[in-house]
Amino acid sequence: MKITEHLSASKNKTLFSFEILPPLKGQNIQSIFDGIDPLMEFKPPFIDVTYHREEYVYIERAKGLLEKRVVRKRPGTVGICAAIQSKYKVDAVPHILCGGFSKEDTENFLIDLDFLGIKNVMALRGDAVKSEIYFTPDPQGHNYANELVEQISAMNRGQFLDEALENGHKTDFCVGVAGYPEKHMEAPSLEKDIQRLKAKIEAGAEYVVTQMFFDNQKFFEFEKSCRESGITVPIIPGLKPIATKKQLTLIPHRFHVDMPNDLTREVEKCKNNEEVHQVGIEWCIEQSKELVAAGIPVLHYYSMGKSSNIKAIASQVF
Ligand SMILES: Cc1cc2nc3c(=O)[nH]c(=O)nc-3n(C[C@H](O)[C@H](O)[C@H](O)COP(=O)(O)OP(=O)(O)OC[C@H]3O[C@@H](n4cnc5c(N)ncnc54)[C@H](O)[C@@H]3O)c2cc1C
Repeated sequence: MKITEHLSASKNKTLFSFEILPPLKGQNIQSIFDGIDPLMEFKPPFIDVTYHREEYVYIERAKGLLEKRVVRKRPGTVGICAAIQSKYKVDAVPHILCGGFSKEDTENFLIDLDFLGIKNVMALRGDAVKSEIYFTPDPQGHNYANELVEQISAMNRGQFLDEALENGHKTDFCVGVAGYPEKHMEAPSLEKDIQRLKAKIEAGAEYVVTQMFFDNQKFFEFEKSCRESGITVPIIPGLKPIATKKQLTLIPHRFHVDMPNDLTREVEKCKNNEEVHQVGIEWCIEQSKELVAAGIPVLHYYSMGKSSNIKAIASQVF
């Protein structure tokens, strides 16, 4: 089913969903199943699987020379989605990026998804390659996520890149896109960022999943601004329970989101990461309960493959 169909069928009950990332190359899929199994009792209608583009690594060779290698540390997004759909009979939502994809690669990727019976995709631009500051699109690819959404919408109309190909099979993807309650780091203002979010919806996206946030007020204000700008599609909040002291600095640095003072104070008081884990769970339960009370259709948890804290939260909220 499409995400939009799950939402219509939910009869205003808040649904539970989560996101996982493929294991590092060399590991097997059991680690994925071990992360999903404990969460199945909360009946997720869909599970997202992230996509990880290539990185550059530099290997030291003789005479101080460096060899540049292109590696993908976490391949397997499509295979994991197929395995999830087959094992759990739950919709898997693969993430697809502009970065590292030509339009032709995108088309072929989407053909695979369509043949596998995958009905939903999360369309993203992707970040810059780790060793670079700015995002550089593939020379034959897309610059921004709205262009990627347009390509998927064209395939939904049966239009492929080869214009000579007539009466192509019409795919039927439901497309999700990313939204940023605290603004995407590159956007000049939140207002401009929301205009660009609207462009993704006008290109065909049917729902939004947000970047993580730790202060619900930021989400409620973002949702209000989106509605005022004419965005009517469902906006699904992304939630992440903090689990280590280091994340107090890592998360703001990596994701450009603020940590509320109360949360920071509680984490700083902790003697070890077990205590931080518990603070993270309690904070996320409070966030979740308030969002459920506000009638939010789905809560989407960034599990990062670790299910113990998500299970503790879900058992108090769903
Ligand atoms: C829910 C979620 C899931 C994610 N999953 C993944 C994943 O699986 N893999 C991964 O690598 N990354 C993932 N990311 C991270 C994401 O790829 C980065 O945040 C990326 O920097 C932006 O992607 P986007 O799709 O939001 O880009 P866009 O919507 O293209 O926006 C990127 C920036 O460009 C600006 N912009 C947009 N359109 C234009 C335009 N026409 N002209 C000028 N500026 C413009 C926007 O304001 C924004 O600042 C995820 C993020 C979220 C919130």
